[in-house]
Amino acid sequence: MTITLKVSENTKQEMQEFFEEYKREKTPPYAIFQADDADCVVTLYESGKAVFQGMSADISAQLWIERERHLNPTKKVDVKNSETEKKEKKELYIDPKIYHSNSIGSDEVGTGDYFGPIVVTSAYVAKDQIPWLEELGVKDSKKLTDEKIMEIVPQIIKKIPYKSIILTNKEYNERYSKDMNMNKLKAILHNKVLLQLTSEIKDYDYVVVDEFAKPYVYFHYLKESNQVFRKITFLTKGEDKSLAVACASLISRYIFLQQFEKLSRELDMFLPKGASTTVDEAGMKIIHKYGKEKLKEIAKYNFKNTEKIINQKEKE
Ligand code: MG
Repeated sequence: MTITLKVSENTKQEMQEFFEEYKREKTPPYAIFQADDADCVVTLYESGKAVFQGMSADISAQLWIERERHLNPTKKVDVKNSETEKKEKKELYIDPKIYHSNSIGSDEVGTGDYFGPIVVTSAYVAKDQIPWLEELGVKDSKKLTDEKIMEIVPQIIKKIPYKSIILTNKEYNERYSKDMNMNKLKAILHNKVLLQLTSEIKDYDYVVVDEFAKPYVYFHYLKESNQVFRKITFLTKGEDKSLAVACASLISRYIFLQQFEKLSRELDMFLPKGASTTVDEAGMKIIHKYGKEKLKEIAKYNFKNTEKIINQKEKE
């Protein structure tokens, strides 16, 4: 493991004093010193670059990151970690075999939104549809605005097979318990849409799920399900690596937006997405207008927002 950070003049000074006794005899070019610190070799360069290498590099570096912060509170500390960089690179790798295949992809939305349902979708993309989907802008699905999604998804669902499940917040609240958490619920819903779609579509090379839990955890969540679809490739940032996942994500979002609109109209008020403080304000208005019980019907009741909304209300 290698951690590199940039230290200021004052930290440099402290490091020199601190490592005085541990300095190695030889100093690499442009370095002030090289020293041993437990299972780690520390090299400080004239430029202020400090490099920590070895098993305990993170522990050793952490001390100096904190020192640098303490001595220079207005500066942002510049830190590079070889392990995280490697992991990030690996996470961004697009496997052409998967990308250019006939594939089924599965993704969900709404799990971080206080209002609005959870929507999980599985979609099938045949190889020869890939250029058309790229043309539509599906490849950068994360960057598409809601307006753009409302425009292109109707075109997509005309041509590609998919299955969606909408879990209303009323249902969510009924199911949520100490034996049921968000990820377990997601696993159950993904499994359902995958079983539905794969019962109709047989001509696929890969089934990709945008990874939200490690595979063994995913299957553990399904241990009470009587039918489990197992031939899954789990990929983080799956929507970048499989257009089927990107389509699944967009279709889910499209349905979510429609449901959200509908709820907004029914309540006759503006509803914010997400789970921020503007959501709390909307929640208070809802209690005013419709009473506390209404939240159990239209919001994810176990979110922290509920407590904040009710506490605020009681203070009034
Ligand atoms: Mg996802």
